[in-house]
Amino acid sequence: MSYLTQPTASHFVNGAYVEDTNGTPIDVIYPATGAVIATVHAATPEVVEQAIVSARVAQGAWAALPGTERGRILGRAADMMRERNHDLSVLETCDTGKPYQETSVADATSGADALEYFGGLAATLTGEHIQLGTDWAYTRREALGLCVGIGAWNYPTQIACWKGAPALACGNAMIFKPSETTPLCALKVAEILHEAGLPAGLYNVIQGMGEVGGALVGDPRVDKVSLTGSVPTGRKVYAAAAAGIKHVTMELGGKSPLLIFDDADLENAVSGAILGNFYSSGQVCSNGTRVFVQKGIKEAFLARLTERLKGAVIGDPLDPATSFGPLVSQRQLEIVRSYIAKGIEEGARLVTGGARVERDGFFLQPTVFADVSDDMTIAREEIFGPVMAVLDFDTEEEALARANASEFGLSAGVFTRDLVRAHRVVAGFEAGTCFINSYNDAPVEMPFGGSKLSGVGRENAKAAIEHYSQLKSVYVRMGDMEAPF
Ligand code: NDP
Repeated sequence: MSYLTQPTASHFVNGAYVEDTNGTPIDVIYPATGAVIATVHAATPEVVEQAIVSARVAQGAWAALPGTERGRILGRAADMMRERNHDLSVLETCDTGKPYQETSVADATSGADALEYFGGLAATLTGEHIQLGTDWAYTRREALGLCVGIGAWNYPTQIACWKGAPALACGNAMIFKPSETTPLCALKVAEILHEAGLPAGLYNVIQGMGEVGGALVGDPRVDKVSLTGSVPTGRKVYAAAAAGIKHVTMELGGKSPLLIFDDADLENAVSGAILGNFYSSGQVCSNGTRVFVQKGIKEAFLARLTERLKGAVIGDPLDPATSFGPLVSQRQLEIVRSYIAKGIEEGARLVTGGARVERDGFFLQPTVFADVSDDMTIAREEIFGPVMAVLDFDTEEEALARANASEFGLSAGVFTRDLVRAHRVVAGFEAGTCFINSYNDAPVEMPFGGSKLSGVGRENAKAAIEHYSQLKSVYVRMGDMEAPF
């Protein structure tokens, strides 16, 4: 692919690209064709060691800089990401298969927003003064040290920035391990950060599968781990981090509810359901995949949804006209197809889709099931593909109880014209991120994260600062010290 500005080696460590071909080769596959477009090598123990040592060496001086200086570098990197948005978006499309129509507005741009936002916050990170009579205390907000970021494959640029930006703003170093499925984009983030003036060693990217992530999480020189991934991986990483009493952020999976009441604006509700199920071919953790529709509006909703889905332009994701791309991998395609088969087997009504698209690559039609009941597999388990389950309901109370009857608690949404009801329903949702008459917005200014099995901690907004820094309390005595003997 001549138009693809690829990274030049597998890893970015201590300010430069690094290769070690002794590591297990990992092919990078373009999901729209199945073609191998690059090969990277998993980090060997030597590369892991270089990444840890260089990060630790660089971190102290970085933390000691004034916040404005750290922020200026992040701000410069944000500008560079925006200037290079086209190339970065093409790379994101090649790595993930998501349409350029999406990647050009949602990936490098969202990464740049995070760099700009946390760059701006860097200078504001202060402690507080606490007067205690004549004595006093103060707090210092300090860096944690070395943070490890481990990413999923659906938003490789965004995840690399959502973790890197607050970590660096707070004075930490970061080692980021992308998913083996999408290894390329984070390397470009590292390259840009260093070109913007980030000292060597502060943002290292190393490749590998679970073992490399595991080696980083288990290393005593690592102070914090932030994972975006599935619940099973989250359990393993959380447990490994617990052994070293490390700080954690866990951004995990979901099976989020979207409640559509009879009085909702139908067109907006259909748009919300489409965005919340088919954007990125459904590979979004916060998707509203359990769409509860009140009985009075159900048939109208399904009819309009089916009509609107005919407008999806399925094709080459690099064509700006394409609005619906392939799944990320053959494996993910098989997983999603097995859920579709389960849906049919368990008696859900297939309204539209359900089949592969007749072309190369891992394409699957946007799929809608109706008459889904709460106990069906497709209503309980995270599918992570373009499969919407529509469930009916009668009352608000019933819908809320059923919406909350899930082990996950990432997101939840409600469409209604009754705003009192909207706020009441949102207050009742057991979820970390909620939407009223909208779905899946994730501006950097708003905290993002899950409750229940969906996660621990928050990304984005000022809330993320709490998860990348720690307070030191200092008591200052102004008079003499008394002691009993
Ligand atoms: P996985 O959980 O399979 O993998 C996540 C990352 O963890 C990958 O980089 C993986 O490496 C790594 N990993 C796997 N095992 C270990 C281990 N034992 N120790 C350390 N690292 C390990 O998730 P997917 O990549 O399949 O992503 C999909 C999942 O991510 C979905 O459940 C989705 O909901 C969730 N997600 C959550 C988001 C959120 O913000 N809440 C956002 C996006 C996705 P490798 O794959 O290379 O083996």
